[in-house]
Amino acid sequence: MNNDQIISQVTAFKKESRSEFEKTVAALIALAYKYSKFGANFLWTSDPVLEREANRILRGLSDELSAKAKARALAIISASGWDFGEDAWEDANERVDVPILTRFDQQASFLRDLLEIWIAIAFAEKMTQAYLKICVIRYLSNPYASPLWRGLPAGLLKHGPGYQRDIINQLALIGQDAIIASSRLAEWMDARARGANYYIRRRGSFYPCGECQELANKPIPIDVPWDFTHARCMCYPEYHYENLQI
Ligand SMILES: [Zn+2]
Repeated sequence: MNNDQIISQVTAFKKESRSEFEKTVAALIALAYKYSKFGANFLWTSDPVLEREANRILRGLSDELSAKAKARALAIISASGWDFGEDAWEDANERVDVPILTRFDQQASFLRDLLEIWIAIAFAEKMTQAYLKICVIRYLSNPYASPLWRGLPAGLLKHGPGYQRDIINQLALIGQDAIIASSRLAEWMDARARGANYYIRRRGSFYPCGECQELANKPIPIDVPWDFTHARCMCYPEYHYENLQI
């Protein structure tokens, strides 16, 4: 598999995920401002219609990113001339502890919790929607650096499950892992179908990882599926079609 293909699809996904994220933040803020009467006591659960609508927008983010990551993975797989795109995407999802959609949903719910606090502050300070949106996008991963949070007790966010997380970065990483894992799996399915006998796992990164090191540089029978050991694993396979000589 051509590394450039992976890099260009992953980079494109990163841009897409950022723009979907910004669209979602804008939609949630616009929705919240219809309920500015709640002021500093604003909660997504303050009104059942508000809550339902916010959850719909957040689910939309997960669904959209999941679909976009899948499209990027399938693009790599078909450009490489392999079949098995759909199978590889599903298989890769079944092999991980937490499926991609659930991982996106987790980030969406961190965003929901974090925005709730931002919005309550903005209402208390009578901020405009536009200003709040800029602050949220700029300071999301480090809210205490924002002028909006000045004077608030440090540690306020420790009570929420979503404080100080770099959600934009996480969304990109979740997609990246799913794209790479499913592409590698399609590659393995293709090699097996074409009669490969074994493969050797090579480390694509110098980052010390005992798990990957343990599997690396020795022949693995072709019937053992490619293992995307952990998030951000950059290992790659070398397929061998000759008989294994020991
Ligand atoms: Zn690895």
